[in-house]
Amino acid sequence: MRLICSYCRRVIRADPQARVTDVSHGMCEPCASHFQRLWAGIPVDEYIDDLASPVILTDEDGRVLAMNGKLAALIGADRKATFGLTAGEAFACVHSRLPEGCGRTVHCRECAVRRTVETVARTGQPRERVAAYLDSKDGRIDLRISAKPAKAGIVQVKIEELGEPRPLPKKKDA
Ligand SMILES: [Zn+2]
Repeated sequence: MRLICSYCRRVIRADPQARVTDVSHGMCEPCASHFQRLWAGIPVDEYIDDLASPVILTDEDGRVLAMNGKLAALIGADRKATFGLTAGEAFACVHSRLPEGCGRTVHCRECAVRRTVETVARTGQPRERVAAYLDSKDGRIDLRISAKPAKAGIVQVKIEELGEPRPLPKKKDA
């Protein structure tokens, strides 16, 4: 496994036997403290833990500021380890593991999660029950998300539905 910094793309840790595709994301120390400083003044609402639905708070680029316990349990994530990661990385989207990284691959233009976060951040208008999907290593997972602006440019994303993985559609010649 190679652990790569989500932000500066530096290799944090590499197992010599790791395959190129065997990538996980984290934050290197300088980047983690950069985000801690950047987000220190932002009130991250504690109430998300009281919500019955799985919720993340992201910045306008889809970087995770906070995830509630419900969502962490649902996707099997370590909440602390997702701080500063992109949502795609936190959800283990396979495209986020490509060399270009989350948000920069050809697939990312069609990513409804990313587009929804960016739209809500830009317009300040909520979006309800947007159909999206996530390509995980186990297959394609269909989901529905709602997103609304929270304070200070934060976007609150609620996972309304999360399906079971199904086989990926056959690639044409991509
Ligand atoms: Zn870094």
